[in-house]
Amino acid sequence: MTRTGARREARWALGTVLVLGALACGSGGDGAVTLPPGGGAAVAPLDVTGWVAATDGTMPLVIVAPHGGDLVPTELPDRTCAGCETVNDANTRALAIEIADAFARRIGKRPFVVANLLSRRKFDANRDLTEATGSYAPLAPLWTLFHQRIDSAKARAARVHPRALLIDLHGHAHAVPRLELGYLLSAANLRLPDSIVTPLMFASSIARLDSSARSGDAGVVLLRGARSLGTRFAQSGFPAVPSASDPAPAVSDAYFNGGYDTQRHGSQVAGPVDAIQIECNYAGVRDTPAARANFAEAFVTATLAYLADHYGWVPA
Ligand SMILES: [Zn+2]
Repeated sequence: MTRTGARREARWALGTVLVLGALACGSGGDGAVTLPPGGGAAVAPLDVTGWVAATDGTMPLVIVAPHGGDLVPTELPDRTCAGCETVNDANTRALAIEIADAFARRIGKRPFVVANLLSRRKFDANRDLTEATGSYAPLAPLWTLFHQRIDSAKARAARVHPRALLIDLHGHAHAVPRLELGYLLSAANLRLPDSIVTPLMFASSIARLDSSARSGDAGVVLLRGARSLGTRFAQSGFPAVPSASDPAPAVSDAYFNGGYDTQRHGSQVAGPVDAIQIECNYAGVRDTPAARANFAEAFVTATLAYLADHYGWVPA
């Protein structure tokens, strides 16, 4: 098939099945948003700077934790938009911190970490502005600040090394206990034959990597080949989809394929930073301090292999 023909077929496949793709973390999708009381009224500006935590890193990896905050300031209204998800991804900020500490112990270097500190009842840091704030205008500067912090971390990570990776870290409550890796390709996309999935990679959140992986891997091999991130996690004791042993969710399986942050901060549009959403199951991954410490070690092992293989980065 010619490249043009492959692109045409890929766009057909995306257009046909993307509607079936699940959004991140219990999203209500594109439900209508209603203004909370006072949402449109002029009020004094909020000081939002204390609701985002950003820590510097020394390696080409950014970890974002948008759904692990637990602050519920009484001055903020609860989000009441129709269909909005307001349940946190339990312990995912603690997990991000544990992962950063595990990198420091293993290699003496830290990833950049950006975390939203507000409960999802008040703010959803993985949605567009309207749904993130529930149309409460005074929170708009927080949404802007959160993405500025991510943009800054990405820029600095790309100064450490010209190829960098962002992980958007979440938690799911689906029936199958495995990691769900989201590249913006739907479950229906992933169930297609390899020869059809490969040309879809231009629309994935690792589109730049698809054209420039140091390993020479490309296409569907980056999703479920021997050196894919899912396979590396499975080898480290944490089953993942997609991976070599679990190439795609079954038709009956719930699956999150990547949300707003992955769309905005990945490389399907442009830029030197790829993004992957990782949705973590609960038991044995993020439920207890011991589980989080154990998973953090596996995360370091899997991610270091991935960075070495495809980004050409190894700790000095
Ligand atoms: Zn989430």
